[in-house]
Amino acid sequence: MAIEQLVDTINALLPQTQCTKCGYDGCKPYARALAEGSADINRCPPGGDAGVAKLSQLLGKPIKPVDPECGEPGPLRVAVIDEQHCIGCTLCIQACPVDAIVGANKRMHTVLADWCTGCDLCLPPCPVDCIEMVEVPGQPNWTIENALLARHRYEQRQQRLAAPVDDKLAPVASEADKQAAVANALARARARRGQS
Ligand code: SF4
Ligand code: SF4
Ligand code: SF4
Repeated sequence: MAIEQLVDTINALLPQTQCTKCGYDGCKPYARALAEGSADINRCPPGGDAGVAKLSQLLGKPIKPVDPECGEPGPLRVAVIDEQHCIGCTLCIQACPVDAIVGANKRMHTVLADWCTGCDLCLPPCPVDCIEMVEVPGQPNWTIENALLARHRYEQRQQRLAAPVDDKLAPVASEADKQAAVANALARARARRGQS
């Protein structure tokens, strides 16, 4: 198999959270390192043991546990922003690889839970530590469909960031998604004010 084809085949087996826990700058760079034989098959915590098994089968390498230095496999968790403490700095938006956060400068931000891959990348940049990762009761495990959508959103974002400056702020989430998320956030804020 040609190397680019192998990279794409491996990439299609990866969860596409783009979390960088493998030590590479996203799923495709890890896929490339695997194709080139410079990375081991057990570096993807979101893929878990099932992911290692798929890579083992494809690449003919022995199964091994996920490398704990990369992180622990676990249930999907999504980011939730404490909107009372958010200062609207936009740093989380800049860190999110799949455009799952909406908000504007100096306005509270909110997460589109259905878009969140649980990558944790928005946590470190938040200057007021107001983002928490939570398990969603009844949330299904990460599926192939989730991975396809996350990959699409990631690639759209990459294209937008590579575009001329004027195009970079073009929204990727649909207006309806964004308006619904902001309306929900405002309703939650009103409800909190009503309680206090
Ligand atoms: S999901 Fe995270 S750890 Fe797994 S390959 Fe993608 S970036 Fe690496
Ligand atoms: S909201 Fe945070 S945890 Fe969710 S995908 Fe974006 S950066 Fe990752
Ligand atoms: S990084 Fe934190 S404070 Fe800044 S916009 Fe995001 S949630 Fe709000």
